[in-house]
Amino acid sequence: MAGTAYRLVIAAAAALVCGAGCAPQPQRPNVLLITIDTLRADHLGCYGYQRPTSPRIDAFAAGAVVFENAHSSSSWTLPSLASIHTSLYSTTHGCWKIYSRLEPEFTTTAEILRDAGYDTAMVACHIFLSAQYGLQQGFTHIDDELVRPPSDAAAAISSPGVTARGVRFLERQAASPDGAPWFLWLHYFDPHDTYLPHAGFSETFGTSAEIDLYDGEIAFTDHHVGEVLARLAELGLAEDTIVVLTADHGEEFGEHGFQRHGYTLYEEAVRIPLVVRAPGAPARRVSDVVSNVDLLPTILDLAGLPPPAARDASCAHGFEGRSLAPLVRGTGPLLPAAALSEVRWHDGQDLRAWRDGAWKLVEDQSTGQQVDQSALFDLATDPRERTDLREPESARLAALREAVTHRLARAMGWARCYPLVELYAPTPGDMRRLQDLGYAGDELPSSPEEGRR
Ligand SMILES: [Zn+2]
Repeated sequence: MAGTAYRLVIAAAAALVCGAGCAPQPQRPNVLLITIDTLRADHLGCYGYQRPTSPRIDAFAAGAVVFENAHSSSSWTLPSLASIHTSLYSTTHGCWKIYSRLEPEFTTTAEILRDAGYDTAMVACHIFLSAQYGLQQGFTHIDDELVRPPSDAAAAISSPGVTARGVRFLERQAASPDGAPWFLWLHYFDPHDTYLPHAGFSETFGTSAEIDLYDGEIAFTDHHVGEVLARLAELGLAEDTIVVLTADHGEEFGEHGFQRHGYTLYEEAVRIPLVVRAPGAPARRVSDVVSNVDLLPTILDLAGLPPPAARDASCAHGFEGRSLAPLVRGTGPLLPAAALSEVRWHDGQDLRAWRDGAWKLVEDQSTGQQVDQSALFDLATDPRERTDLREPESARLAALREAVTHRLARAMGWARCYPLVELYAPTPGDMRRLQDLGYAGDELPSSPEEGRR
């Protein structure tokens, strides 16, 4: 029986049992979140790539809402996934070091949905999704059998295993529906280096250059993601399910002199695919600048759930992202907003990027680095980020700097609501600017030692 028909039967049965004594419970949609590690947007057909890396994702995107300018909050895995699940930037959730973890005091997508009656499940194949990093909170069913030690992870091929486990979960839901909606998170890892050849996929792209192998890994992953989406439809669950497909960050192949990810905030590192299919929402393409911190409020809004209450009155705050539901449904524009990306993975590294419309400011406050990546780009005329416009656009530069400083100050203030979070200590340049903008010194952490109080 199709999912919708099942649900009508369950709802009717519940109404008979409850009679007039129970308030009717609205039927929530299921949520399927698919994250693909290291998948830059511009290597997918639905984002204009000329090579056939993604026929199945492209077919899915053709019937969904494609966000053309989606940015990750960071250019490596842990901070990005933590942002997806908390709607907070790195400075606030504190996952900005290799040894960071998402502390239990944060409220995640899975916790909110579980508390709203959802059956929550995740399939993990990456070390950062293992228990010690904190991203498992809120999941009732956790399958992390595919997680390998870092030394083995690069050689492991995991997409078939992720898909098999995801399909098993869907089949269980379809076979024994209990009326409860579900939230399933599948994380794919294969496009991450080391890039491996896959028979039947990689031949199309070649295996001599790294970027060719990378494309083969995408095609291989695309096939397995397609299997999940096909099974969702075959089981009659698609029309009751919000599907979100995205990546944690991109990948660099020397465009700006860097390889892999986590070193810069250029577009190849932070521009991610974001495709959302929601029941009743027409297919469309959206050019607004959005961030992966927008995903949690969007999922809740599409599911008809309110944001959670503030943790306590003395530390009331909400999400740093906005609901994209009006854009998904095609019912209205968003208020203008910008997207922040940050990376502080390596010793001394301190980079942030602020994307506002077509303009992108990169501020490099790192110490001990050989290259200063600070620049101002006009992505409308310079999508490859070649020409630094800080000098001729000095007024715009000042306005963008002020905006990013305000955002950073807010994030630092919110971070102090979480006693276990490792606080980000602003650089001397930050401190000067914050004081110029009227922030008092005692509102801000003054040193790294103030973290982990
Ligand atoms: Zn990653």
